Amino acid sequence: MADTDLELDEALEAAHLPALIMAMVHMTGDASWLRPEWTPVYTPLSPPGDTGLAEDAKTEIRARARAAIKAYMAAGSLKMPSPDTATLRKMMDFVAGAPIPETYADFLIDELAISGKSSKDPQFDQPKLKEAARHLKTLVIGAGMSGLLAGIRLSQAGIPFEIVESNADVGGTWLVNTYPGCRVDNSNHMYSYSFEPNHAWPQHFSPQPELLKYFRGVAAKYHLKDHIRFETKVESLTWDEARSVWRVELKGKDGRSETVEANAVITAVGQLNKPRIPQIEGVGTFEGPAFHSAEWRHDVDLTGKRVAVIGTGASAYQFVPEIAPKVAKLKVFQRTPPWGLPVPHYHEDVPEGMKWLLEHIPYYDKWYRFWLFWMTTEGFLPMVKADEGWNGPTTAVGAANLMLREMAAEALAAQVADRPDLLPNVVPTYPVGGKRAVLDNGVWLGALKRPNVELITQAITRVTPKGVVTADGAEHEVDVLIYGTGFTASKFLSGLKVAGRGGQDLHQAWAGDARAYLGMTTPGFPNFFMIYGPNTNIVVNGSIIFFSECSVRYIVGALRLLAETGARAIEVKRGVHDAFNVRVDEANRGWAWGSEGVSSWYKNEFGRVSQNWPFGLIDYWRATLSPNPDDFVLTKQPEPVA
Ligand code: NAP
Repeated sequence: MADTDLELDEALEAAHLPALIMAMVHMTGDASWLRPEWTPVYTPLSPPGDTGLAEDAKTEIRARARAAIKAYMAAGSLKMPSPDTATLRKMMDFVAGAPIPETYADFLIDELAISGKSSKDPQFDQPKLKEAARHLKTLVIGAGMSGLLAGIRLSQAGIPFEIVESNADVGGTWLVNTYPGCRVDNSNHMYSYSFEPNHAWPQHFSPQPELLKYFRGVAAKYHLKDHIRFETKVESLTWDEARSVWRVELKGKDGRSETVEANAVITAVGQLNKPRIPQIEGVGTFEGPAFHSAEWRHDVDLTGKRVAVIGTGASAYQFVPEIAPKVAKLKVFQRTPPWGLPVPHYHEDVPEGMKWLLEHIPYYDKWYRFWLFWMTTEGFLPMVKADEGWNGPTTAVGAANLMLREMAAEALAAQVADRPDLLPNVVPTYPVGGKRAVLDNGVWLGALKRPNVELITQAITRVTPKGVVTADGAEHEVDVLIYGTGFTASKFLSGLKVAGRGGQDLHQAWAGDARAYLGMTTPGFPNFFMIYGPNTNIVVNGSIIFFSECSVRYIVGALRLLAETGARAIEVKRGVHDAFNVRVDEANRGWAWGSEGVSSWYKNEFGRVSQNWPFGLIDYWRATLSPNPDDFVLTKQPEPVA
């Protein structure tokens, strides 16, 4: 508890007041804290401190909270009665600043996890299931955010597992991406496992080393390293039909191959793990150092160098402002500008007082996370929805989207008021939400305005030994070439050979157009599950950790079905899979990212949106509560893996 009154005052000053009010309802058991005049009024894209409350209301809330906290401390931190469901519902509406539709109630109550329990906890308590679990040996590919999560849940379920990781450490994308300025673009108090909150995030959007530290810490806490084979690649998976097991061929760093067996396989390799170098004429001929953002060459000192950056997506958006001050000349080659949404606190520290509240005031952390969750996920989604029959400008897909566009465009234009030459090239013509928007605190356009930085919008025609040639014939000579050109995201599981039932090859079955049921399972490939598979990415709404947690719950549920029924193989029915994909494709067309005229890595070579989930988070949550046995063929076979 606070050492001094001063510390408490500092904490109250930093408080997100609606979350604090919720904590006070818990602490005092008094729902009269939910005063109508204290209901927050948010404006879209406003930082956490903007609650629309009048100054005298803020002062009164802090004073009352101060007294309540001091009384609670003096009484020796008594156990608090949990509010009933009706009160919880009122609290949710209050913190959201507007009534939340009733359909969300069970979903959000689960997310809030007030009791400390969640539908995502594995349900393997019965002795019969516990015994069966021991015969469901599972192999997980990847020790990044999703693979670690799978390991935690499998271990909680009592399922023996092994994780195979090609890198020498855990962390996945947070291990590999070390480019300057790399940081999370989802608020960290939400971008963390729901069951492993971190009250010490140094920033609202912390830099990569902090994320890596978090995932390393979680791996250590759950003793996952004992289960991980590092620096080992999974070369191929072959389904042994007679025995209902996967034969998995591994290759270690010494080049030696080994075959292991598993009853089930979970891939947790991410969507953004294979750097994409564009197929530009002359790529590879450049004489100086050339590298991709995800393979940053820290041995190349950029100080005083002439540097070219190709691409202006989320990665370049983060590293360009970092390198711009140190290079002699920076040429940024832009094909399409990114949409920036104003987030002034993007690089700001979490105030010490806020950290104190998160750590010491019961339920404050849960309600703060809840608020972030609601405001930045389902609450934001209507802004990027296409209106049916929209006949407004093609730069938007609907009325709300147009409003968002105008707000964001105004914020961008204001930043280049002193550089009108930049204006036509920094406000995108595609709708907001057509691609992933980046968080704008001014540093991007600040960098582009520097005298040593040039934004080049002419198409690149060639890379030469000396630099980059553009369509106007100009050759831009540089010393270093950096590709911020993204990843081959729609080539799911590339490099992994998977032979399913009857020897069918997964990549041949997909024929370049990867599909799955709920992103996880595909017909012909029993006991084979993907996390962050086809159509499970999100563009604007929320954290991918949420998706992984839902997926893992479902996968563990599928393993539970095997345990319950004594079946050895579970395989999604073709009809279920196909009907689901029809719904997905149709729904994707109703969002900004699915609209015609927007090209992005979300669309595969056939123009199909193969990455994104086109429904609400609530829909994924509901669909993944537990597998419906009717969606699957369950086959009984002998012989679990010893
Ligand atoms: P990206 O968003 O795919 O951006 C690639 C950039 O390269 C785009 O500007 C693209 O232009 C450009 N490009 C590609 N080929 C080109 C060519 N031949 N000539 C000129 N320009 C070319 O890749 P990314 O920036 O690495 O980000 C990928 C995803 O990773 C993000 O959407 C996000 O989901 C994730 N990410 C997250 C964070 C974070 O903050 N947590 C940070 C980085 C990345 P077009 O737009 O015209 O295609």
